[in-house]
Amino acid sequence: MARYCEANCKLCRREGEKLFLKGARCYTEKCALERRKYAPGQHGQRLRRKVSAYGLQLREKQKIRRTYGLMEKQFHNYFKKADQKTGITGENLIQMLETRLDNMVYRLGFAPSRKSARQLVRHRHVTVNNRIVDIPSFQVKPKQVIKIKEKSKNLDLIHAALKEVGRGEELPWLRLNKAALEGELLEVPKRSEIPLTANEQLVVELYSK
Ligand code: SF4
Repeated sequence: MARYCEANCKLCRREGEKLFLKGARCYTEKCALERRKYAPGQHGQRLRRKVSAYGLQLREKQKIRRTYGLMEKQFHNYFKKADQKTGITGENLIQMLETRLDNMVYRLGFAPSRKSARQLVRHRHVTVNNRIVDIPSFQVKPKQVIKIKEKSKNLDLIHAALKEVGRGEELPWLRLNKAALEGELLEVPKRSEIPLTANEQLVVELYSK
């Protein structure tokens, strides 16, 4: 499967905001965006011309897609599914992305970034309702319990991540048991409860053209 292999910080600099793609480093002054607050590339420091409506929509789409670490085609497929569901398309889209297994592992604080959460899942360290699931895009349903496999409970990466930021404890739609290294999705979160500063309506407008 295709994946993005270039510098993550470039993506934040392009969007002009922190996408938190690198775990602990994102919270320190080593963050590239703290040091270079301009877009990457030769013309990055040029004053930007007025951005068109299309440009705004594109940037918002890229921001959401990059935050969740998806390739273009995967993201578009999510949009199509969200559009087919009843309810508000933009909200459906964000809810589907939030309830991906890799994102849930990240939100619970078992991994420092979505990228390493994806690796934990891929390397079979994570169970859902006591069964190993190694598909990062697995859609977690309410009342399902996500747990770190017994044999993997000593992984330093997990404990270091949990110490750094107690993400899972802050979100009302998650239950986190740090000692047991398990968490549960209590309910599908409302858009207002999801900590994501993006305007998904612009993505809907972009794809509806
Ligand atoms: Fe983005 Fe993190 Fe890099 Fe800062 S350190 S630019 S937040 S990926």
